[in-house]
Amino acid sequence: MANTLIQGATVVTAQETRAADVLIEGERIKEVRAGIPARAGDKVIDAKGMYVIPGGIDAHTHLDMPFGGTTSADDFESGTRAAAFGGTTSIVDFAIQARGTRMRDALDTWWKKAERKAAIDYGLHMIITDLGASGLEDMDDMVREGVASFKLFMAYPNVLMVDDTTIFKALSQTAKNGALVCMHAENGSIIDVIVARALAEGKTAPIYHALTRPPRAEAEAVHRAIAMAEIAGVPVYIVHLSSEDALKEVREARDRGVPAFAETCPQYLLLSQDELERPNFEGAKYVFTPPLRPKEHQPKLWEGLKNDHLQVVSTDHCPFCFKDQKILGKDDFTKIPNGGPGIENRLQLIHHHGVNLGKITLNRFVELTSTTPARIFGMYPKKGEIAPGSDADLVIWDANAPYTISVKTHHMKVDYSMFEGYEVLGNARMVLSRGEVIVDGQKFLGASGRGNYIKRAARGGAWK
Ligand SMILES: [Zn+2]
Repeated sequence: MANTLIQGATVVTAQETRAADVLIEGERIKEVRAGIPARAGDKVIDAKGMYVIPGGIDAHTHLDMPFGGTTSADDFESGTRAAAFGGTTSIVDFAIQARGTRMRDALDTWWKKAERKAAIDYGLHMIITDLGASGLEDMDDMVREGVASFKLFMAYPNVLMVDDTTIFKALSQTAKNGALVCMHAENGSIIDVIVARALAEGKTAPIYHALTRPPRAEAEAVHRAIAMAEIAGVPVYIVHLSSEDALKEVREARDRGVPAFAETCPQYLLLSQDELERPNFEGAKYVFTPPLRPKEHQPKLWEGLKNDHLQVVSTDHCPFCFKDQKILGKDDFTKIPNGGPGIENRLQLIHHHGVNLGKITLNRFVELTSTTPARIFGMYPKKGEIAPGSDADLVIWDANAPYTISVKTHHMKVDYSMFEGYEVLGNARMVLSRGEVIVDGQKFLGASGRGNYIKRAARGGAWK
């Protein structure tokens, strides 16, 4: 492969913003400095007036995921392609251990889902549903395979929820193997009682999905998860944090020096519970867990991002089509497949609503969407950085490009957008994955199956 030289750019990392050229040799970055001369045979990309940022890392996606008798609408082919268009060059998806089976079986299943399909690099978390007799051994086995993080559910009783015994054992095992436990923190037992009560009262519309999952049920579980991690002496990562109540628990723990981390998602920063009241069942498009909250929570979450009480923005991309999937819950909100699409629009939304509107800096934007997820999930500095030796996963970002988000133009295989009609300033102009241009404007130049599995390191380095 010929060398590629990106010339005249403003390089933006989590640390700094500076004028520089970026020389790429093969799949990696060779040099970053101003005034690198082009040599004969170099492919030169003119990036004058553009930012070059590290490719986005979405640490929370659900491609080709079975849920309630259906499957999320994007597989690894369409999902990673859509991600690339939005400037995301790595994802970490979730393999799910079926109860009573070995984690190895789930890993094999998810590797098969991804191979020959993924257009960008991908890692996998393992969802633990059952530790059984060999679960702790299985966890060590997964860590050796580069599955350096596990997710456990405190919600969805009888489906995914595990008890505190299981959570505490899993946490304790990570003290030995260095993996990170991610928690879906909602008190599922309480929520189930409230849900049953609502259904008995004939409350079946989508809005009851939000009203039956109170913020305090999230805060309680976050508190408990952090307490258990503290007792086990390990860090913990709260996924898709949605409310001020839950944020307070994380902030309080971090103020005491506890290595508690949390992510939020664009939907919690920009959309509110009111969306679930849309007429003609369209509220179902906004049914996912935790639910959208009253809009007063949004500025608190932005403050959390700014002040490092929240460390990561991911998407929890889990699309279900409105027409033939969301409709399964027409007469009962509990039957609506839980999830929404977002993998393509994360950078656009956080750049516009965060940076352009003055809530976070450009460097913090890079940190939240790329560098910190790389660190926390054991991919740094291979991913999430612009420096010699790092993978040449780069986005040439046009901060002045106007873009209107719409189902009519998005690349996700789903029949609606949660952000339909949103106008943003700032979009990916060109996207490189390991040195290869995979997106150029509206053209996809990558190939299905070119994405590599990312073998992630335990003890990613975001804690001591
Ligand atoms: Zn999720």
